[in-house]
Amino acid sequence: MTLRNLVVVCGDQLDHNSAALDGFDPERDAILMTEAMEEATYVWQSKRRIAFFFAAMRHFRDAQRKAGRTVHYNSLDDDAPPTTLAAGLSAAIGRHDPERIVMVRPGDWRVREALEEVASAAGVTLTTAPDRHFYSSVAEFEEFSDGRKRFIMEDFYRMMRKRTGLLMTDDAKPEGGAWNFDKENRKGFGKKGPGLIAPRARYQPGPVTVDVLRMVEKRFADAPGTLEDFGEPVTRDDALHALHDFIANRLCNFGTFQDAMWDGSSTLNHSRISAVINLKLIDPREAVDAAIAAYEAGAAPINAVEGFVRQILGWREWVRGIYWTRMPEYADLNALDADRDVPDFFWTGETDMACLRDMISRLLRTGYAHHIERLMGMGLYLLMHGARPYATHDWHVGLYLDAIDWVSLPNMLGMSQHGDGGVVGTKPYCASGAYIDRMSNYCGNCRFDPKQSTGEDACPFTTLYWDFLARHEERFESNPRMVLQVRNLRRKGADEVRALRERADILRGS
Ligand SMILES: Cc1cc2nc3c(=O)[nH]c(=O)nc-3n(C[C@H](O)[C@H](O)[C@H](O)COP(=O)(O)OP(=O)(O)OC[C@H]3O[C@@H](n4cnc5c(N)ncnc54)[C@H](O)[C@@H]3O)c2cc1C
Ligand code: SF4
Repeated sequence: MTLRNLVVVCGDQLDHNSAALDGFDPERDAILMTEAMEEATYVWQSKRRIAFFFAAMRHFRDAQRKAGRTVHYNSLDDDAPPTTLAAGLSAAIGRHDPERIVMVRPGDWRVREALEEVASAAGVTLTTAPDRHFYSSVAEFEEFSDGRKRFIMEDFYRMMRKRTGLLMTDDAKPEGGAWNFDKENRKGFGKKGPGLIAPRARYQPGPVTVDVLRMVEKRFADAPGTLEDFGEPVTRDDALHALHDFIANRLCNFGTFQDAMWDGSSTLNHSRISAVINLKLIDPREAVDAAIAAYEAGAAPINAVEGFVRQILGWREWVRGIYWTRMPEYADLNALDADRDVPDFFWTGETDMACLRDMISRLLRTGYAHHIERLMGMGLYLLMHGARPYATHDWHVGLYLDAIDWVSLPNMLGMSQHGDGGVVGTKPYCASGAYIDRMSNYCGNCRFDPKQSTGEDACPFTTLYWDFLARHEERFESNPRMVLQVRNLRRKGADEVRALRERADILRGS
């Protein structure tokens, strides 16, 4: 019998509730999944990231088969697996002659283009099912953006709160009397540190995952990072467990210490659900509803719950809308004309800077860093170093388990590197070592001094901060959110500015 629907499921589409599976008839339909070498190598990727995706894919395959569905699965362990997703689809069309290909929009422009091309060349209809995973559709985002003079996340977020009724009172006011509680949410841990925080649960790899770990160790021996102590949630059950572990043990203090950093630990009070939510093992509604239920039960305060909801209902939906309404041009943006490579130590963690040494080494071990480590640690350094925005995104995709094109690009190129000139955020996130000193315990154990901007002991962040402002002074003097910083630069004498710019050149190796 000929196949009716061939449902294509990519590694970031492991959604048991996917609209692509609506009306699936086990007698006439089949699923296609492909572990493609290209997906593991199109950027230089860590072993952990590769293993995470393939392990989750194999578990999804098994769950679908258990539910009685045929899954044609191309594994890298096969004799001659297709090297690309496009080749996998092309071969499957040749073999099964489907009437229709069905899929939801993949999370990467590149993949969508490639698959559409294959379908069109083969003359098979490709139906894109709506993506129910997100709260808003791309069309709704477009409608929100059209003709809008003030284009900021805050307005989008408030619109989403009103539209969904989430954290809204019966008389349509924001719960807790305010739209956000940022003032309560920017605290460091102080000298006492974070204290005891329940550690994140670890998920013992079963036989399916162990097979993947062996395969990755063998085939990707030269890839960065390590598979040691791999305990990531790679099934829906484990992902749900990870969510509820956060709600029960860390949500309470999520808001207050959202921006704090601490040597040796990334999880702190964060959820660490980004990777499983981006693979669609869990639905964002499951996360948001669980947090709101904790608030309603009196188990978590409003500043924590609103902060968490804002990340998912606001930021996550915002960056997705920006990606799909501005690609492919968005990927080429480079508003600050940054032209340097990502420094080598970003792949090894080998640096004298105590903060970056810890963050990057941990990232290589775990595939994770929290938001402020990304924005005000690693991303900040790359911004002030002057790395090409797209190269920073490539680096980011290579090392983070949660990095998929639609979410990494606007966050990295846009928010962190200001490559889009102010679309994702209205100002560049630039700061000196004083910020890291205030929000962490790193500087006390570092050979550099965050207060010094010139000389051998100067903190590289501080030197590069002033150099960054000096390089872009004219551009930022008219940005109301940057005026104070530019004014402080102008208080410095010409000799001081010359000295710190010379020091910045030495740091950059130019
Ligand atoms: C430079 C930079 C790059 C980033 N790249 C990615 C990326 O590739 N993938 C990714 O999922 N997140 C990215 N983020 C957003 C954010 O840092 C991560 O989602 C978060 O650190 C993941 O950890 P968590 O699950 O513990 O999140 P929590 O701090 O517990 O937050 C809860 C959830 O909110 C969502 N979220 C929060 N902020 C954002 C945001 N800006 N964009 C999208 N979702 C958000 C995530 O799903 C996250 O799991 C990036 C942020 C920056 C500054
Ligand atoms: S002194 Fe500078 S480089 Fe050292 S830990 Fe502090 S911010 Fe990082």
